[in-house]
Amino acid sequence: MKKILSVKNLSVSFDTYKAEVKAVRDVSFDLHEEETLAIVGESGSGKSVTAQSLMRLIPMPPGKFVGGSILFNGEDITQKSEKQMESIRGKEIGMIFQDPMTSLNPTMTIGKQIAEGLIKHHSMAKKEAYNRGVELLKLVGIPTPEKRINQYPHEFSGGMRQRAMIAIALACNPKILIADEPTTALDVTIQAQILDLMKELQKETGTAIILITHDLGVVANAAHRVAVMYGGKIVETGTVDEIFYNPRHPYTWGLLGSMPRLDNHDEELKAIPGSPPDLADPPKGCPFAARCPYAMKACGSHMPEYYELSSTQKTACWLLDERAPKVEPPEFANV
Ligand code: SF4
Ligand code: MG
Repeated sequence: MKKILSVKNLSVSFDTYKAEVKAVRDVSFDLHEEETLAIVGESGSGKSVTAQSLMRLIPMPPGKFVGGSILFNGEDITQKSEKQMESIRGKEIGMIFQDPMTSLNPTMTIGKQIAEGLIKHHSMAKKEAYNRGVELLKLVGIPTPEKRINQYPHEFSGGMRQRAMIAIALACNPKILIADEPTTALDVTIQAQILDLMKELQKETGTAIILITHDLGVVANAAHRVAVMYGGKIVETGTVDEIFYNPRHPYTWGLLGSMPRLDNHDEELKAIPGSPPDLADPPKGCPFAARCPYAMKACGSHMPEYYELSSTQKTACWLLDERAPKVEPPEFANV
């Protein structure tokens, strides 16, 4: 499949009065047509900042690109002017957020919010844009779309608002859809429905999806590839199968261990003890060293390199060095 986005050595910082917070550090990944890449990590891992960087939604200042590039259609997003970004946002790259209530405009009907992008980016006439709006609401599974299109966000349920937001994001046929925790605020049944919907729509439209989540459980059915982020860095990346059946990074082990298991409701979830590193003063070596049960001397002082385990799996951990002691992944790995 064709590569449509290539992020290379991206570093993003925020200037605070105390220090420079290095939120994203040397992150690289590619995205292909018709593919869903999940970026997984705890809050503060840099996953949302990475996603927002792709659309340049980061307030600059205090945010700034420190290094690297984001190649989309062969052009570097980090070098674009605000004016040039306006024709990319919404049209080429769409975004849906965790809480539709904060991103939908409460004073505008759903129809008007869908039509806006179509009128702006595709110079559609108002009537035509509304008709397309009705089609889109139908596509995302909203019943009686002809009536619903004239309603306001508060007249929709949580799940329907999320569907409406997907309709707005898809209105302009974006090549990439970024979904930041799109189902976190929803109950489990609706969550599954929304993820299924995104999958179906992807089949129809070929849109590539970047799915940002803290929940590895969401990823299993929804994504093709996974990038695990920790402390502003990607610590492991691979196909869904590689991440679930052959995870090699102790942080990925921790995430898998803290996932609820369907076959055992009584088992206590093993949260990973400790907290993420302070990115105003990031550790010199492995970002996970302070919490890692397998940390060795080198881990604290030297950043692990990426070990290529397959053409698709890369893991940044010193345990993969041939001189390191052999460590077997813990039990959970048979998820
Ligand atoms: Fe743990 Fe060291 Fe691997 Fe980091 S490099 S995850 S500290 S073993
Ligand atoms: Mg976030």
